[in-house]
Amino acid sequence: MPTVAPRPLRGTPELLAALGHAPGCIELSKQGSISSCDCAIAPLEDPAIVVGMVIRLVRMVRPIGASLPDVVVELLFRQLLAREPACWVIADWLVDLGLLDSQILPDARRPK
Ligand SMILES: [Zn+2]
Repeated sequence: MPTVAPRPLRGTPELLAALGHAPGCIELSKQGSISSCDCAIAPLEDPAIVVGMVIRLVRMVRPIGASLPDVVVELLFRQLLAREPACWVIADWLVDLGLLDSQILPDARRPK
């Protein structure tokens, strides 16, 4: 039984692949031919998993001066757009660390 509600089939091909969509499904979504599918999706859209993954990656990239992978930033942004409070805390933390530009945060979606 899934604990996360299904979301529209949107995102970069890299994100859709990371989520577990089949190549054919990604191609059809790029063409706008489908808006949902039956792919077995990885639980990467669970906010708790996104928070844990970001914290783990920050520990990995900070010592070497690297940035967060784009696909992870995209996963976080989907949570920000869904007004997930914990993910907004993480986003503000990333801004403080210099790993995220505050200018690109979707502030209109910040929980009140
Ligand atoms: Zn799919």
